[in-house]
Amino acid sequence: HSRIRQSGTERQPETHPLTWRLRDDGEVVWLGEYLDKDGYQSVRRALAESDPQGIITVVKDANVRGRGGAGFSAGVKWSLTLQGGDMPRGYLICNADEMEPGTFKDRLLMEQQPHLLIEGMILGARANNARQGYIFLRGEYVEAARVLNRAIDEAREAGWLGPDIDGSGFDFDIAVHTGAGRYICGEETALINALEGKRANPRAKPPFPGQSGAWGRPTVVNNVETLCNIPAVILHGADWYQNLSGNRTGDGGTKLYGVSGPVAEPGLWELPMGVTGAELLDRAGGLQQGRRLKTWLPGGTSTGFLLPEHLELPLDFDSIANVGSRLGTGLMMAVPEDRGMVSLMRNLEEFFARESCGWCTPCRDGLPWVVKLLRDLEKGQGQAGDIELLDKLAADCGPGLTFCALAPGAAMPLETALRHFRQEFEQGIGKVSGDTRGVPDRVAA
Ligand code: NAD
Repeated sequence: HSRIRQSGTERQPETHPLTWRLRDDGEVVWLGEYLDKDGYQSVRRALAESDPQGIITVVKDANVRGRGGAGFSAGVKWSLTLQGGDMPRGYLICNADEMEPGTFKDRLLMEQQPHLLIEGMILGARANNARQGYIFLRGEYVEAARVLNRAIDEAREAGWLGPDIDGSGFDFDIAVHTGAGRYICGEETALINALEGKRANPRAKPPFPGQSGAWGRPTVVNNVETLCNIPAVILHGADWYQNLSGNRTGDGGTKLYGVSGPVAEPGLWELPMGVTGAELLDRAGGLQQGRRLKTWLPGGTSTGFLLPEHLELPLDFDSIANVGSRLGTGLMMAVPEDRGMVSLMRNLEEFFARESCGWCTPCRDGLPWVVKLLRDLEKGQGQAGDIELLDKLAADCGPGLTFCALAPGAAMPLETALRHFRQEFEQGIGKVSGDTRGVPDRVAA
């Protein structure tokens, strides 16, 4: 049962809006305790004092950037739903299909503090004129489903969900919908298709879900951590939120950062946005004794490999994008010197190839081909031209060439691994000449 690796004395309301209420024993903060710790005060205030536009303005001014991985402004996203004028009310969907390898931040929030998410969803629903909310939850998160369903019942019984919330005249309710174990369902438009009972292919954007989403209605899809940021923003204001990151970065707030890999103490911490990779790695006690850092992924496997020298950069969306990677989910994966990049990449690409929905050609046919080439290189049976072919296949999966971000997400670690560690791939070229291999069939799961 994982916990955040920060004691309660370190976590304070002024500095740790996401985690200050968490219990050191890792048990759930149920409604009574949540209310004792100022729970639902932001809803009370917003419903009494603000209209939807007022809430959106604060969220926009705070510059809350999406914590699912892309860092898009939540306030700008929310502005879309109100542009529909007299459009029928739409939906607020919490994307809790946390399937990015190495990422476990949303699970911890949901399992230990479900009411913060519910509170954030009520605010999001109010801002976006939504009457019904869904939590699209990763199927394997069985414990989170149990906790969320019980917390939703508690909130409903206490009048924080359902009709006429807190006497405001605003009605909103939430249902938990569990996925069936597909990575693509975390892509927001595939998620909407899945929710509608259709095959989970991504849809073309635009229209963005805010314009036309679930059942053709304006729909906002936000990540769990993003929504959990909203209550404190409403209570304490945009300037407070901006100042949480000090002068580390232009982005405000805190972030749930984590570290996995062969480090002394893998875990999760709420830290100011823009801490450096070195500070984060320090929190995890550095690499295990006798091991040295070779490379690292800043936030899940659909980001690009960085070098030890990049540890001095702030872990914010723009700084990491500037060096050819992306912050992603902010959960670092540390790779030690003794880990071979060819077998690591083969492992990652097997995952992406298996999870392709098959809609776009570069992803459906290109990724199994990448896997085949990597398997050959791993066995020392690669052929001349294989590495250039990998370069090309990665380029063919680049941004804008497929419907969704799955293929670009598979291409980025490959492209950066080939760039930084090319020699390791070259060592996999064998002595056999003459290529008799065709494009492989889809890789078996
Ligand atoms: P994206 O950049 O296409 O979109 C991000 C969000 O911004 C979406 O909600 C989109 O609708 C919105 N948006 C973009 N442009 C807009 C506009 N002009 N107007 C209004 N809204 C707009 O990225 P994406 O495909 O949603 O996500 C990719 C990211 O997902 C990757 O960076 C990766 O790190 C992350 N990811 C996370 C997980 C996880 O488990 N958390 C899994 C896989 C990938």
